[in-house]
Amino acid sequence: MTNAELSRRDLSVLWHPCTQMKDHETLPVIPIRSGKGAWLEDFEGNRYLDAISSWWVNLFGHANPRINAALKDQLESLEHVLLAGFTHEPVIELSERLVEITPPGLDRCFYADNGSSAVEIALKMSFHAWLNQGKSGKTKFVTLENSYHGETLGALAVGNVELYRKTYKPLLLETITAPSPDCYLRETGESWRAYSLRQFEKMDTILRQQAGEICAVIIEPLVQCAGNMRMYHPVYLERLRNACNRYGIHLIADEIAVGFGRTGTLFASEQAGITPDFLCLSKGLTGGYLPLSVVVTRNKIYEQFYDDYENLTAFLHSHSYTGNPLGCRAALATLDIFNDDDVIGNNATLAKAMQETTAELVDHPHVAEVRQTGMILAIEMVKDKASREPWDWKERRGLHVYRHALQNGVLLRPLGNVIYFMPPYVVTPDEIALMARVARDGIDAAARG
Ligand code: PMP
Repeated sequence: MTNAELSRRDLSVLWHPCTQMKDHETLPVIPIRSGKGAWLEDFEGNRYLDAISSWWVNLFGHANPRINAALKDQLESLEHVLLAGFTHEPVIELSERLVEITPPGLDRCFYADNGSSAVEIALKMSFHAWLNQGKSGKTKFVTLENSYHGETLGALAVGNVELYRKTYKPLLLETITAPSPDCYLRETGESWRAYSLRQFEKMDTILRQQAGEICAVIIEPLVQCAGNMRMYHPVYLERLRNACNRYGIHLIADEIAVGFGRTGTLFASEQAGITPDFLCLSKGLTGGYLPLSVVVTRNKIYEQFYDDYENLTAFLHSHSYTGNPLGCRAALATLDIFNDDDVIGNNATLAKAMQETTAELVDHPHVAEVRQTGMILAIEMVKDKASREPWDWKERRGLHVYRHALQNGVLLRPLGNVIYFMPPYVVTPDEIALMARVARDGIDAAARG
């Protein structure tokens, strides 16, 4: 089996996600035969360092022996059972452990099988909880500019990245958009904290004036990942939590991308010392093995649905694969690794290596900013450093970097003109140095056109 053969078969029957399929007339699709640690290998023995954790899901490497063993064990006893009226040990244990490790006050787990579905659940639960309290006027969600929460219609409606949203606008819920605290846009000399506080004032005004019609604010804590890895200061979350309390509005923290250690703490919300009313988790939840997501919420919200059946207050949402036992066992094995190894401590060393190996890029003529929050590092590639004029999106300079990196054994998948690293936590300092070198040469190659 060769790459070319598999690629030909693939392109005759598949339709790939997030892809203009015509690009594949010139850009090969890469069939992967195996993965080990931070590396992927194709059918011709070429290896690629997975610097983006296969869309931000993988935490402890591909074919991780500990997660593999847990899954093999689970396969022998139970692959799946419906979660309505039935339950199983992995989902019970996982829920107990999630309640324990998530911010204090989150006591109830509701499962689904992907991030967008978790967002849909949080939105519906928030609206429905208010409705069950007789507050039927609360029908709107507040979202941040440049935010991303998934691709299903509800999740897309509360997202704000035009590239994904614009086409479907006529189909989407009406939302209220607040300016982003995105610190790339701060004034020269202004601190992240000062800018985040300044931007919060606009959010506060919206919440104060429209509280009566607002169910919830939904945010990606600390890093707007799909929105080009734009970052902000935790003080924004702290103020937002207080404002939501003050005005009677739920706070939904979408930690689907930033959860499980990506920002330097197990959950990003910890850095602001806040507890959201709904915490959405997926991606790293299973160590990047299987599709599973969860919304963790408060007992206080759960109780608003708890009543005699004929009062019809129950949350009747469901997905066939809700709380799948294999997914839950992969998640438990992932949490065991966090428990047994000093993952967060080791990541601090890796994050430092990421910072040091990219330090030289700060002065690069086509780099406007190198920013970092924990294990996420982003490089803002521009046409002109002084004015920060971006490359024209039609020139697809990021795609140049992508091609260059693949030819040099690294999987980078820039978001527009932003190159970023979000590697699995098993990456080594040498591999980080490779990522940085390839990114730098890729930026040079992209600048030459
Ligand atoms: N929220 C955030 C913050 C995300 O980054 C993503 C996925 N990139 C989602 C939601 C959607 O998750 P999924 O792709 O599993 O539907």
